[in-house]
Amino acid sequence: MHTKVHRIDPGSKVRMKDLDPEATPLCDDKADGKERCVELETRLGELQELLFAEHKHRVLVILQGMDTSGKDGTVRHVLNGMSLSGARVVSFRKPTQEELDHDFLWRVHEKTPGEGEIAVFNRSHYEDVLVVRVHNLVDEKVWRKRYKQINEFEKTLAATGTTILKFFLNISKNEQRKRLQERIDDPKKHWKFQHGDLEERKLWDDYMGAYQDVLEKTSTKWAPWHVIPANAKWYRNLVVADVIKDALESLKMEYPVIDLSAEVVE
Ligand code: AMP
Ligand code: MG
Repeated sequence: MHTKVHRIDPGSKVRMKDLDPEATPLCDDKADGKERCVELETRLGELQELLFAEHKHRVLVILQGMDTSGKDGTVRHVLNGMSLSGARVVSFRKPTQEELDHDFLWRVHEKTPGEGEIAVFNRSHYEDVLVVRVHNLVDEKVWRKRYKQINEFEKTLAATGTTILKFFLNISKNEQRKRLQERIDDPKKHWKFQHGDLEERKLWDDYMGAYQDVLEKTSTKWAPWHVIPANAKWYRNLVVADVIKDALESLKMEYPVIDLSAEVVE
């Protein structure tokens, strides 16, 4: 698939209004899309085993998006075919006091993947220029500097062997209304409901402004953003899986060559 259509070119201007959460430009058939996604999940499993066996590359996947945008669902699909010994998810929540006592990247750096590993971040250091900005949790002069600090941090990770893939799961405000309402209406979804999400929803426009800056200022050659239309869950899963598959294939990984010719099984 030509997933480049969803990639933000470094340095390009971004207008949130132009990013359509409903679009499915790379696949117009849901049944076909779902079928391809199942194949992709199997392929991702094979590639992850190779990543683990080769023990040479590190892969970091970052998922961001508004509440109900499908971060958890995407994690489930991406990791579905993978072995949990080399693939893990890291969820970033409100920082602890100890974390707040350090620089904002401290808690993030230690969770980055090691050789042979894939780590999927459910939220990330981007919260430090999203929720933190929207709620004025630090002074503007502090968060303003973070875009550059983030770019430099990610550049260091990339230069030392980490492939970084960033996804903004783009749902519409109306889709969020439906999904929050479902959480209220469906007893099986009550556990997902947080009253705070309704308060955050009131700040939708502020969040969109903050996301626009993130996409404009931190889509780089070494760590590009992909904006995934995410109103349709099947399309979201398909594109995210395909981008990760392409990235893993481009690493040209090979199983280690080990001479076992002298080994005899008695
Ligand atoms: P959830 O993803 O539903 O488990 O919620 C996690 C919560 O933690 C969200 O409300 C985030 O905005 C919040 N959070 C994550 N990172 C930070 C951060 N660096 N500063 C403040 N809040 C954060
Ligand atoms: Mg939540």
